[in-house]
Amino acid sequence: MDYKEVITQIYNDVKPLFGQGKVADYIPALANVDPHQYGIAVATVDGQIMGVGDYRTKFSIQSISKVFTLVMVLRHMGSSLWQYVGREPSGTAFNSLVQLEFEQGVPRNPFINAGALVITDKLMQLYAKPKEAILQFVRSVADTPDIYFDTAVAHSELEHASRNLALGHFMKSFGNIANDVDTLMDVYCHQCGIAMTCEELAKSFVFLANRGVNPYNDEQILSMSRSKRLNALMLTCGFYDESGDFAFRVGMPGKSGVGGGIVAVIPGRLSIAVWSPELNPHGNSIMGMETLERFTTDLGVSIF
Ligand code: GLN
Repeated sequence: MDYKEVITQIYNDVKPLFGQGKVADYIPALANVDPHQYGIAVATVDGQIMGVGDYRTKFSIQSISKVFTLVMVLRHMGSSLWQYVGREPSGTAFNSLVQLEFEQGVPRNPFINAGALVITDKLMQLYAKPKEAILQFVRSVADTPDIYFDTAVAHSELEHASRNLALGHFMKSFGNIANDVDTLMDVYCHQCGIAMTCEELAKSFVFLANRGVNPYNDEQILSMSRSKRLNALMLTCGFYDESGDFAFRVGMPGKSGVGGGIVAVIPGRLSIAVWSPELNPHGNSIMGMETLERFTTDLGVSIF
């Protein structure tokens, strides 16, 4: 299949949609991003990589980082993790506090902010230098040493972290956070501030399309069963309160971030990363969703 031709066609058709959404503006460092950028990259399980548009421009991966930290923690903790965080869709916004009190400080899933904070808290107990460990892991799955924190984004995020701090303190009051909340926030804001390109993101997710094996070095990153479970979580929880609609329209497991990136996989075949910073009210890239809907529809390749 000529994926390059397909994504080029979709790129040309979707590009006129610029101007429909709003870039993330909760921190100045993201509010200043040029909204009219758009890239697509595909990485196949047999090692091909292709892209179109701004697919080699770095952007802030934000919540996509929650997949990397979850994988790192799952590798160590396995199923014992699920007593601290659930695996049900939340139906609420990514930064919502509302369910936490009813559910005694145990977040619904690892991809809403509260759940991701629990995962990062665990990661800090597993690694003496958690920020370095995260970079090292992402560099290895992305098959490139050129992955860094955008410290301007991380610091901007830290200065505007009241809501995430509230989530952290609230969960700590239930005994579900072990570390000092300010130290936890420093690590969390750095992981959200990782800068990557579509090409790097597509490469870094392809192990989830390849039964947990990184095709670039044959490392088994997750067992086949855990890789399936991770895909199930991305399908049901990867797009916050729009996860159902994403499954309905696109039909791929994936993860989005408020930087405007989305990565999704078709198990057995490929991963695809799309980036365009204009978001819909749920915090998902408008052109990203449109692109992926076109991709699965035109190719007839959704997981269903
Ligand atoms: N850093 C953002 C936050 O914690 C990430 C949110 C997102 O990408 N949905 O609010």
